[in-house]
Order: sequence, then structure tokens, then C-alpha cells
Amino acid sequence: MNVHKTHQELRASIEEFKAQGKVIALVPTMGALHEGHMSLIKAAKGQADIVVCSIFVNPTQFAEGEDFTTYPRDEAKDIAILLDNGADIVYIPSVEEMYPEREEITEPPIKNGDILEGEFRPHFFRGVGIVVTKLLHQCAPDKAFFGQKDYQQLSVIKQMVKSLGVPVEIIGCPTQREEDGLALSSRNNYLSVWERKIAPELHKIMQEMAEEYRQGTPVEIVCEKGKRKLLAAGFAKVDYLRFCDSQTLLPEIKSSARLLAAAWLGTTRLIDNIEV
Ligand code: AMP
Repeated sequence: MNVHKTHQELRASIEEFKAQGKVIALVPTMGALHEGHMSLIKAAKGQADIVVCSIFVNPTQFAEGEDFTTYPRDEAKDIAILLDNGADIVYIPSVEEMYPEREEITEPPIKNGDILEGEFRPHFFRGVGIVVTKLLHQCAPDKAFFGQKDYQQLSVIKQMVKSLGVPVEIIGCPTQREEDGLALSSRNNYLSVWERKIAPELHKIMQEMAEEYRQGTPVEIVCEKGKRKLLAAGFAKVDYLRFCDSQTLLPEIKSSARLLAAAWLGTTRLIDNIEV
């Protein structure tokens, strides 16, 4: 397994594989790797010859006061996990490598980046758009794999890549969960023992909401009840709990519905989404 820190090294390695006719897959991550990330590596291995995993905690997608400095980082452990799981290349650039110039004027073409997550983290999708565009340029993969755990992010990236005409196939992979239903996330490391016990209630309550929705209960009533249940379970605040169109993410449901949520457990913000 090759570990590269600069985009020149990465590109030289990729060009060699491309010259041999190999199909290249990219799996972008922020590290603190878990089984959710590994499911993307596994899917990528099944659909490509060479799997590149990038590890980069991207400063532009964090706002002032968010967890950029405290985000869990363990490079040696992540590299060992990737070696075990058969990744071919690990790309671990520094902030200077990814951001050698001032980025104030960079605006990626993002649609619907101001709803749901964007309403509560207005900086977020701009940062994601910038870093994903850079990674796609540097790696030039044939395919890139993202988790449905971050459903809106997947949707925004698909649309951005289409808009920019980037020659890459974006592939979404299902959310991996703990046995009790909690979606795997690097931020679950922040939960106290007590909070970890409550955390699966998010997925459980969302499933109950989906069932009520399917039975025809009006959306406003389902959402109000769901919010009350979350607060009663011990969640401190609910940022959003909404049924959206699974394609447009708008409230008007034209194809199928998707339920998306973000809620605070103490100082940890959990997000989740399910098919309805
Ligand atoms: P992150 O390191 O949190 O930025 O995530 C890197 C990639 O892994 C993103 O495409 C995420 O959507 C994906 N991912 C994170 N958690 C999960 C999970 N529980 N199941 C599937 N994919 C995940």
C-alpha cells in the first residue's frame, strides 16, 4: 500500500496504474475510520482495480466554534486499518497542500446547499464542494464512493459533478449501523456512556415516524410527535426532522420520501436519514 502526502506523488502513482488500464476508485474521508468507511472501501474494491482512500480533515467545512481542532485524528491507526482492508493508496495531504492559495473567491456550483444541513451549517456545503472538487482533480478517479449516511452531501456532490462536467461516476453506499441502529460516525466517539445509550433512539423514532407517515398520518403531526419523543428521550435540541423528496430534497414529495434528521445529544450533533 502506498502512502502519499502530496498531489504530485499521488498523481504519478495513479498515472502508472492508468497506463496499465486500471480502473481507479476514490473514497474521500476525514479519518477516524470505522466500519462505515470500510463498507465504502469494500464497495470500491468490488467495482475498481485500484482503491485510493483520502484522509483529510477539511477546515473549510467547519465554522468557527465547531470541532475542527478536536475532530478525532489517528493517522497510524487509520493507515493500519486501510492496509488490513486492502486499500491500494492512501492520500494524506496537509492543509497547506490542499489550500496553497486564498480560497475566498472559490464558489463551487452547489444547488440546495442552503436547506436542511445548510440551514444550520451555512458554510458546510461550500467547504465540501471545494475539497471534493480538489480531490477529484488531484486523483482523477473513474469512480468516487460516498455514504448515504450523509444523504444531502451525496446529493449535492452528484449535482455539482454533473454541473462541472467532471468525468467521474459518483456512487452512493448504504448507511452502516451499530446493532442497536445507531448510524456509525466518527463523532460517536464524543458520546458519554449515558448519551451512547440514548443515541439509538434517533433511528428508532425515525422508523416509527416513517411507519406513521406510510399509514397516512399528516406530516406535521408525525414530525411534531417525533420531535417531542426525541426531547423526552434526552436529546437537547432538534435542528430538523423532515420528510423530503428523495431526489430534490425539497418538502414537496414528487418521487419517494426520505426522512432526514439532525439532533443534539449534549454537545454532540447526530445526523441520520432513512428511506420511507
Ligand atoms: P467522514 O469521514 O465522516 O467525512 O465520511 C467519509 C465518507 O464515509 C462519507 O462519504 C460518509 O458518508 C461515509 N460514511 C460515514 N459514516 C458512514 C456510515 N455509517 N455508513 C456508510 N458510510 C458512511
